[in-house]
Amino acid sequence: MSNTYPPSLQLHIDGEWIDVEDRDVHHVVNPSTGKTISDLPKASKADLDRALDAAKRAFPIWRDTPVAARAAILHKAADLMRERAPEIGRMMTAEQGKPVGQATGEVTASAAMFDVMAEEAKRCYGRVLVRPTGQNSFVKYQPVGPVAAFSPWNFPVYTPARKLAPALAAGCSIILKPAEETPASPIEMIRCLLDAGLPAGTAQVVFGDPSEVSSHLIASDIIRKISFTGSVPVGRHLMKLATENMQRTTMELGGHAPVLVFDDCDLDKALDLLAMQKYRNAGQVCVSPTRFYVQSGIYEKFANEFTKRAEKVQVGDGFGDNIDMGPLANPRRPEAMEKLISDAKAKGATVRLGGEAMDSDGYFYRPTVLTDVPLQADIMSNEPFGPVAAMRPFDTLDEAIEQANRLPLGLAAYAFTNSLRTANIVGDMVEAGMVAINNLTVSPGDAPFGGVKQSGHGSEDGPDGLKAYMVTKAIHQS
Ligand code: NAD
Repeated sequence: MSNTYPPSLQLHIDGEWIDVEDRDVHHVVNPSTGKTISDLPKASKADLDRALDAAKRAFPIWRDTPVAARAAILHKAADLMRERAPEIGRMMTAEQGKPVGQATGEVTASAAMFDVMAEEAKRCYGRVLVRPTGQNSFVKYQPVGPVAAFSPWNFPVYTPARKLAPALAAGCSIILKPAEETPASPIEMIRCLLDAGLPAGTAQVVFGDPSEVSSHLIASDIIRKISFTGSVPVGRHLMKLATENMQRTTMELGGHAPVLVFDDCDLDKALDLLAMQKYRNAGQVCVSPTRFYVQSGIYEKFANEFTKRAEKVQVGDGFGDNIDMGPLANPRRPEAMEKLISDAKAKGATVRLGGEAMDSDGYFYRPTVLTDVPLQADIMSNEPFGPVAAMRPFDTLDEAIEQANRLPLGLAAYAFTNSLRTANIVGDMVEAGMVAINNLTVSPGDAPFGGVKQSGHGSEDGPDGLKAYMVTKAIHQS
């Protein structure tokens, strides 16, 4: 099935698909086999300048297209994505590794994001401030201008979709630089938009050396908005670049999600949900449940039962039958896991399950459970971005909240309790952009998604996600 992957890929600039020709090449690797499957052209500086110029020309045309016409194109693109989801999903599995069912589901969820934003844009109302007769003030929301968006490899289609959909719905043109490691599936999403009738230059896709592409695009005052999903250090670097031209930024920079499991919870439900979600996408998820704080009375039982469930996770090539978890996406991840786990072991943590790479040419890592992990272990502070659950006991609600808030990160947080009082206090007191209580749904598409503290700023998704691509203007008339 993986043979549907295109042997060479293209950039899309100014309405034209562009081949490698004499450009530098990035080799795309299948993480299940470690083998090169395709060649990707890297954009030259001249290519990027051409994309900037096209984004500038496309912006006023798209901005002045009536919102209903823009929405119709986005809905049509969503239909095409659903139609092509099986094929796009297979490309994603070949380049990223996740099981093909999850990859296809990601494409249909991304299609839904275009539907959500198409409708949100129709309802982005301004206001009239009524003054004495003949005088009014109007508040209007206008598209911010051409956007540069940078997305990572863990959700190759959904993360770019939550940037493309609101930017286009708002009336902006956008240059997208997805991760070089996972290029084909986001390219296919751009193709759906073009086939749905999006005008040339409105959505373009480039690849290259990430730092060269971002510094070149952000240095241009054509770009009025930067959206980035990735690590804290890169987000910090891009924000510094954006200060020069004072571009607006949305930064989604990962987290280290605490899970507070109270002894009054529905334990089976908590275990089933957490053991399934922890190993989804091999834990390479910015909202993955990671630091498990379990109340002392149920700690041993929770650790044993969680481990039994984790043992059943089927690891293998994402094209295989009944596979729950594929490989890690690139060779950097197993290396990072090795380091964190040997550090935790050396500092006294117990490895209940896994804790090592699998013998393979691909980047497979065993589902891992660590218990009694000391706070000094690096894994309790550094996002592991891998298939590992790190557990510790706690006694009181105050202690649980203190632990949840001890890091400078605050993206997602989870709690399981049947006490309404505990749920209310956790919801209010835990420092995170999203708190899910008795469930793990923090990314429904129509609710704000984003972090606090060093996890970044600005919300994606829903009406807040659309507003992130608009500026507010006041017009005073007499
Ligand atoms: P990284 O920070 O080098 O890369 C993350 C993403 O940012 C990649 O897609 C990369 O192409 C892009 N990138 C890197 N430098 C860039 C630059 N100067 N300009 C524009 N884009 C740039 O790290 P990595 O090795 O891919 O992953 C390391 C850590 O990053 C992970 O362990 C995880 O903590 C975090 N991460 C978070 C997310 C997320 O969804 N928030 C996604 C991927 C990685």
